[in-house]
This record gives sequence, C-alpha cells and structure tokens, in this order.
Amino acid sequence: MGAGGVGAGDSYGGYRSQLVETLQQKGIRDLAVLRAVGTVPRHLFVPESVRHRAYDDAALPIGGGQTISQPWVQARYLELCALTGRERVLEVGAGSGYQTGLLAQLADAVFAVERIPALAHHARAALEAAGIRNVTVLVGDGTLGWRPFAPYDAILVAAASPEVPLPLIEQLAPGGRLVIPIGNRDSQVLTLVQRVGDEVQTRTVADVRFVPLLGEFGFR
Ligand code: SAH
Repeated sequence: MGAGGVGAGDSYGGYRSQLVETLQQKGIRDLAVLRAVGTVPRHLFVPESVRHRAYDDAALPIGGGQTISQPWVQARYLELCALTGRERVLEVGAGSGYQTGLLAQLADAVFAVERIPALAHHARAALEAAGIRNVTVLVGDGTLGWRPFAPYDAILVAAASPEVPLPLIEQLAPGGRLVIPIGNRDSQVLTLVQRVGDEVQTRTVADVRFVPLLGEFGFR
C-alpha cells in the first residue's frame, strides 16, 4: 500500500498532526484516511504565497482560477471511497495533486486526469518531491474517463458536474464506488454512486461547492 517514507523528516509534522485532530473533531473517523492526512505533505502542493496556510482546514487558490479543496471535504470523499489498499482508482481533476497523494496512500494505483497542463505539471512535480510513486497524472478531458486503464474500483471527481458523466459509469468496476458533486455551477450535493450488479444506486451525502467540471460530459 502507498509509497513508504512519504512526508518523513520535514518541519511541518506538528501542523499536520493538528490538522488530523481538527478533522477528527469534525467527524472524520476512518483511521486510514486520517493516517494519510498525517503523512502527505500538503505544503508541497500549494503555491508558495499560501504555504503558511497549508495545514488550515480551508480551500486555497492553486492558480488558473482553481482551488485545492478543503481537507475536511477531501477526507469525507476518501471515507466514501472505502478503499482497502488494493484498488485501482481514477481521479478526475487532479488540480494540485494533493488528493492524488492521499489516494496513493489508500489504494494500489491512482490515475489522475487534469485538463490544465500547467496544473498537471505542478502536480507531478509535487508528487515526486513527496516521494509518491504509485500515481500517473494525465492531461485531458476527465469527463471521458481514461479507457486504457479501466475499469476502476473507485472514481473520485473533484469538480462539479450537472450529472454523472456516462463514460465514468461505464468505466466503474462491478461493486465500484464513484464520488461526485452533482448540481449547478453555484452549489452541489456530494453524491455516492455505486454499481451493484446491473443497477446503479445513488446516495446524497453533503452540500458542497466545487469549481465546474468542464468537458464533453460536464459543463460546456
Ligand atoms: N482535488 C484537487 C482540487 C481540484 S479542483 C486538489 O487536491 O488540489 C478541480 C480541478 O478539476 C481543477 O484543477 C480543474 O482544472 C479540473 N478539471 C475541471 N474539469 C476537468 C475535466 N473535464 N477533466 C479533468 N480535470 C478537470
């Protein structure tokens, strides 16, 4: 599971522990998720201008009009994915690469798609600096999924969509879990989609606010 030695020996460890405590107080229970947050060096994934806020439980700007999501929201996402360490995961909207790094601690292999090349480039560099290796960052329209590596045991969409993009349902393995914010551009509901046999079941979890998913099966 995950990459060994990640986050070791930096001076931000105390701040990370505080963030873990905050998330626990806000109701995050999954120990593997909390351990991932305590391990991945978030400060490597945010721009230098906001580095002093890297371990606040807050969304932060990452350039290109995009944001790194609030850690609590990301932890909630990861709890919903219910990963065991054996999964192959697709992430749509890699952004800073931080959530990609968290996923890498919780799954076997992570494929992350980002539509903005400069962000993908930064995400790759930060993941490498963090010593995280079981990830592949791809540039493209993630609403189409990424067929060459499908099916995925879990799919995590980190941008708001009017509906669940059909290619993502098609690329979800039987029993797989897909987490996505569904709604309009201003507000969405975090939604868990599960493939059980021939059926697709959905459950709504929490109100959230994400940047739009732009692409063929998202917002135009
Ligand atoms: N989880 C990220 C935050 C992502 S913000 C983090 O930890 O930093 C949402 C990201 O989705 C943005 O970077 C945006 O560029 C990207 N995005 C939007 N539409 C997309 C699409 N169709 N395919 C891939 N990425 C997309």
